[in-house]
Amino acid sequence: MKKLQEKIPVAILGATGSVGQKFVELLANHPWFEIVALTASERSSGKKYRDVVNWIQSAPLDERIGSLVVRKTQPDLPCKIVFSALDAVVAEQFEQEFALSGYVVISNARNHRFHPSVPLLIPDVNPDHLAAIAKQPFDDGIIVTNPNCSTTGLVIALKPLADSFGIDKVHVVTMQALSGAGYPGVSSLQATDNVIPFIKSEEEKMESEPRKILGRWDGSRFIDADVIISASCNRVPVIDGHLESVSVKLNSACTINEIKEAWVSYRSAPQELKLPSAPKQPIHYFDQPDMPQPRLLRNLENGMAVSIGRLRPCPILDFKFTVLSHNTIRGAAGGAILNAELMAAKGYIQ
Ligand code: NAP
Repeated sequence: MKKLQEKIPVAILGATGSVGQKFVELLANHPWFEIVALTASERSSGKKYRDVVNWIQSAPLDERIGSLVVRKTQPDLPCKIVFSALDAVVAEQFEQEFALSGYVVISNARNHRFHPSVPLLIPDVNPDHLAAIAKQPFDDGIIVTNPNCSTTGLVIALKPLADSFGIDKVHVVTMQALSGAGYPGVSSLQATDNVIPFIKSEEEKMESEPRKILGRWDGSRFIDADVIISASCNRVPVIDGHLESVSVKLNSACTINEIKEAWVSYRSAPQELKLPSAPKQPIHYFDQPDMPQPRLLRNLENGMAVSIGRLRPCPILDFKFTVLSHNTIRGAAGGAILNAELMAAKGYIQ
């Protein structure tokens, strides 16, 4: 473990929101990174973080971080690495401004995900996409994004199948947690005793993002994977953890045991590099007929592992199964921190 004075200083943009708080919680005792600045909107800036944040994490707010004064979101911060948990309405402008001022921006927002030289990164799936950074137009700055929270679990489950058997078509129905809507998000009168069969722009993201992530960087551009995806997204009264029912059509014949083996034996760059936030085993398979369940399994391997169960034949496509992943950890702040760890290990962050 690096000593405190050797840690890399970092800031969080949009630190008061749902994802921003999760960054604060996960980075409070990080072995490589140390929070030196927090930003938010002008509503919050100029006040101590503990006085403006509506802290909704289960771990208590770190004393030192709570006493930091929230800054305006402008590129005058005492560090070069910024994690962006900004509202998408403002993220595009701020993230570009920071990158053009020489910052490394590690973003959760949707705005730059389809930029032609910005990686849409899941370190366990497409670590080689970091090569696109060499073509970025942000002077000395860098932007790297992570996918939508519901895309992340799906793609981690699909990657071993794509490698071993090839994927032709995917049909996915999501049951997404309330925390995915930010804070305060969906009102209690909408959420309680209810399922909302619509999440704005979510289906479009799930149908496009996996194609970029499972595709390849050819040295000058991203080439999408040739896979068709149909998604239906629902908001359910669960606090954390997105559950997804998935059916797949594969390009080559295989057995149920071969698929299970492809999942549980899957390892990638974060495991090889022993990154601090990497799950030891990215995918866990559960044979019990009623697993995975959000309340029981969302925190597996500190919320960074994906749980799968219910693999069985599909009478329409080839196979169907259920995937669970933690939306604000693996699907947001934890995923972005893993991106930063990979970039540090690969020399993109000094
Ligand atoms: P949120 O709870 O609404 O938080 C938004 C943050 O942006 C707050 O800190 C807010 O500061 C700040 N902000 C808003 N307007 C601003 C402005 N004009 N200038 C500077 N800061 C401003 O949203 P969230 O759920 O944490 O999501 C953050 C981002 O991550 C979004 O782009 C979202 O799409 C993405 N994301 C979320 C999830 C999830 O599971 N929630 C998953 C993946 C990706 P104030 O408190 O001062 O208003």
